[in-house]
Amino acid sequence: MTQTCDYLIIGGGSSGAVVAKRLAEKTSGRIILLEAGKSDEGDPAATDLKRLDEQTDDYDWGFKASTMTGAPPDLKYARARLLGGCANHNDCAFIRPPDSDFDNWDKLGATGWNAAAMAPYWQRIRDTITIENAPCHPVSRAFIEAGKELGLDEVDFSKEVKPGVGLFPLNARGRLRQSSSVAYLHPLASLPKHLEVWTGCMATRLLLNNGKAIGAETTRGEIHASKAVILACGSIQTPQLLMVSGLGPAAHLKAHGIAVVADLPHVGQHLQDHVAAPIVWETKEPVADWEICPFEATMMLKLDHDAPAPDILFHFGLRVREKYGDHPRLATHGPAVKASPNVTRAKSEGEVRLSGPTMAHQPVINLNYFSHPDDLALLLRAMRVTRKIGNTAAMRSICRAEIHPGPDVQSDEDWIDYIRNVCETVYHPCATAAIGKVVTPDLKVMGIESLFIADASVFPALITVNINSAVMMTAEKAADCVLGR
Ligand SMILES: Cc1cc2nc3c(=O)[nH]c(=O)nc-3n(C[C@H](O)[C@H](O)[C@H](O)COP(=O)(O)OP(=O)(O)OC[C@H]3O[C@@H](n4cnc5c(N)ncnc54)[C@H](O)[C@@H]3O)c2cc1C
Repeated sequence: MTQTCDYLIIGGGSSGAVVAKRLAEKTSGRIILLEAGKSDEGDPAATDLKRLDEQTDDYDWGFKASTMTGAPPDLKYARARLLGGCANHNDCAFIRPPDSDFDNWDKLGATGWNAAAMAPYWQRIRDTITIENAPCHPVSRAFIEAGKELGLDEVDFSKEVKPGVGLFPLNARGRLRQSSSVAYLHPLASLPKHLEVWTGCMATRLLLNNGKAIGAETTRGEIHASKAVILACGSIQTPQLLMVSGLGPAAHLKAHGIAVVADLPHVGQHLQDHVAAPIVWETKEPVADWEICPFEATMMLKLDHDAPAPDILFHFGLRVREKYGDHPRLATHGPAVKASPNVTRAKSEGEVRLSGPTMAHQPVINLNYFSHPDDLALLLRAMRVTRKIGNTAAMRSICRAEIHPGPDVQSDEDWIDYIRNVCETVYHPCATAAIGKVVTPDLKVMGIESLFIADASVFPALITVNINSAVMMTAEKAADCVLGR
């Protein structure tokens, strides 16, 4: 039976949950929030940050990506499939983006998204969620001391983003995640009656009529929305849903037998992500268990003095075995730690394409890392600094030896070969339906009435820090855009 509502939000992740909560506060019309995955409520594997490893394969969509054009699609590209989305799947690093990121967005055409205009949205998040600095494991402390030996200041990154070393702020209260589902929607039973959260329900196609979005086909039948359809499926599935519905690059849609409703050539294009590469050290002693999560310490560097904000950000990991796949080049035989610098405002652009005409077909994800030469040049410089970190007295006191890449890698050519082989994602895809290219600054899909996008797809460009804070700020603003405020 066809259901009707005023607002249909598709995707109950970081952004969708925020939009749902804010619309429910400001309107009395019926709102349906659709989430393909299951509920996170009452599930400690989803909401207890320390129990992330208990999440089984069904918490994820199981996507694979190519790191570079021509490379096989063998990188596990984690994307959550549950209420709360990737914020119930991630490591909860939560740093307010520097003003320069939003001022840059504004310059790129996102009029009204400058730092001053975005400040109230940060405040709304701060009024809703708890942010606490990560605990400091003795091994994380060694990394921080190593940074200080290299002349960096210890910085409280919950207060400012600048070159330095310190602890990650986490969107967590103790071990309880402060994902947008936990902080904005729980307990689900207490939500206002006009906000319904439908888990286990997937949108398979948008319903479009005469250039207007009127609802969606879903695994539970059609849902019609009289006021707006809001996409919040994340940077991979939002463009996929647009394309299977006939909104995207015309030739590509036709190649898959999809009737073109609007030729939107930028849908799925301009995919950006933080690319990293690790150095791994074997430790002298086993690394004792951490309190909450294995990524506590970070370091930010400005290798290019003219950069508007740090151009390198580190994740220092107390565990090396990767949850999302064991890389043969990074095998360890004893206890080990790693430091992975990532290029913050990477310039390379990849794409999301269709492999077939339905949402059941896995999207094709080409990250196209290093297609812009500046990214590789910057990461190469960062790797040399990372080796220096390993050679500090603080790190030598806990580490036996650098095992990856190891002392044989010295020349630029060797480093580049290593980086290309072991490069990894920080799981921050964005910009696949960017403001100015696919949506207007008030987040309306160009040329289509009543269709909005509220998730990381709309970023005009990658930002300096881990992106979830900016995703939630975007969603806070999206609720205002939908209501015309
Ligand atoms: C492993 C990992 C670690 C990360 N670590 C951090 C970190 O420490 N700090 C940080 O800031 N960021 C981190 N991130 C990134 C951050 O979590 C994401 O950028 C952010 O959560 C994205 O929000 P979103 O709303 O755009 O998408 P998502 O949170 O992915 O939400 C999309 C939701 O839509 C649902 N959906 C998709 N298609 C459909 C459909 N057709 N019908 C219905 N529902 C659908 C999905 O199941 C999902 O729940 C990490 C991400 C991952 C995967």
